[in-house]
Amino acid sequence: MAVVVQKFGGSSVASPERREKVLHKVLALRAANTDIVVVVSAMGRQGDPYATDTLISLLKQAGTVDKRDLDIMMACGEIMSAAIMASTLRRAGIKTIALTGWQAGIVTDNTYGDARIITVETDYLKSLLATGVVPVVAGFQGASDGGEITTLGRGGSDTTAAAIGVALAAQCIEIYTDVEGIMTADPRIVPEARVLEALDYSEVFQMASQGSKVIHPRAVELAMQRNIPLIIKSTFSDAPGTTITNTVLYEQKRGKYVTAVAHITRVAQVMIETPGDDGSIEYDIFHRLADAGVSVDLINVSPDEKKFIITEDAADSASEALKDLGVDVTIRSGCAKISVIGAGMRGMPGVMAKVVAALREAQVRILQTSDSHLTISVLTDEQDLERATKALHRHFKLGTE
Ligand code: ASP
Ligand code: MG
Repeated sequence: MAVVVQKFGGSSVASPERREKVLHKVLALRAANTDIVVVVSAMGRQGDPYATDTLISLLKQAGTVDKRDLDIMMACGEIMSAAIMASTLRRAGIKTIALTGWQAGIVTDNTYGDARIITVETDYLKSLLATGVVPVVAGFQGASDGGEITTLGRGGSDTTAAAIGVALAAQCIEIYTDVEGIMTADPRIVPEARVLEALDYSEVFQMASQGSKVIHPRAVELAMQRNIPLIIKSTFSDAPGTTITNTVLYEQKRGKYVTAVAHITRVAQVMIETPGDDGSIEYDIFHRLADAGVSVDLINVSPDEKKFIITEDAADSASEALKDLGVDVTIRSGCAKISVIGAGMRGMPGVMAKVVAALREAQVRILQTSDSHLTISVLTDEQDLERATKALHRHFKLGTE
């Protein structure tokens, strides 16, 4: 029988009323005679009693936190959610069982807080499905070979769903959330933003990496490897949502080469003047930052100047790592990285011209840029974020079908 993975995010499982909506999604799919694996996130958001952020604060209040303990603590949120969701389904007559990530066969490496899934041992899951059970799996977690409990990075329940979907060769992976799908821009910034019907894996991967909080990029990567459709939709409506596959360059077919605008805030630009550098300063800069564990992005290197961005949180470590370098280091906080994304822009003339025109009209200064086959990213002052995003959305006509 075909298998479908249904993943429900934190807001979908946060209250009894919401869990009833989840129950209805599971019942509707069961009526279609499909094997189902449910994956759940921890209940609610920061401030809710069992949300991941609440569990983290609880532990921090207690004393000095060790990252191994933190993973044990965080894993509890999804475990509770799985037990509660299984009880909800059972009440409606569904044969079900709650599973921790490791009981579901998720084997990871040992990187606490950001573990990678090495394999999914599916024997147990398959035996449950064969007897008509709907397993409810705690997302975001696994265990290493040595039995250490790990978590998969924030937002990692998506990764659990994708990994299980891939391992079971699922027909599709449904990611249920509180929005109707992936949108052309953040609707809190751009009111004209609309839900995209279909997208390419590579576009969604870029959107997730460039700050759209729709789905974890690792989940997209996994689904893409086996070409399993990912469907992002709302628990609270019957809207069709956004289908992600590798076969559609949907917007491009409609003559659009930009599909969406995404942004990342709280970044800082690092500018280092290095007149006549023979490569030795460049070597020092990037090795010192690497040793300090600072990740760099939007990297522009020339003999006379090095520019890149870091997260604002890393600014202190970066300035500490770069002191005594013998050159001027300027760190400009309060920046935003804004990206236009579209699989259709590859080789198209005029995309950058449009970006420049939109930002000029909105009187937004571009501090730096970078690009790939699918993206053009600009760095701006964070206070320009809203004006810039709206202007790009309008110039690329993303609000209209
Ligand atoms: N609960 C975890 C988090 O808040 C994982 C998830 O929701 O996907 O990051
Ligand atoms: Mg999420």
